[in-house]
Amino acid sequence: MITKLNKDQLREIAKASKAATACAECSTLSCPGWVSVPGYYDLSKLQIVGTLKSDEAAECWDEYHPAGTHLWSELAPIAIEHHPYNRSDVRECSSCKRTFLHYTEYGGYYLDERIRELNGELIV
Ligand SMILES: [Zn+2]
Repeated sequence: MITKLNKDQLREIAKASKAATACAECSTLSCPGWVSVPGYYDLSKLQIVGTLKSDEAAECWDEYHPAGTHLWSELAPIAIEHHPYNRSDVRECSSCKRTFLHYTEYGGYYLDERIRELNGELIV
């Protein structure tokens, strides 16, 4: 079972991640804001360490952008009760411990894997 993380736990993980320097395995992922995972990148290199998904919480599709950011902004706040964070898993590079948020966008005719580096300073 995957651990459901609260905000404090997420902050702890982010803090540890900040100390890690991108290694050869994950340095191709440059994603201060959400990006689609590049087709050549093998997501299984990133291990799931926890999730922000909750079975109990009501579905919430609202995004949180009090400062006028948008989904793709590099400075968009990480609001774990809001979309898409409430659908994200937390993944860690097994080589260097850098951490990322990841969710799958289900479009009508496509699946899009999206990833964003976990920056503790943006957790609200
Ligand atoms: Zn790495």
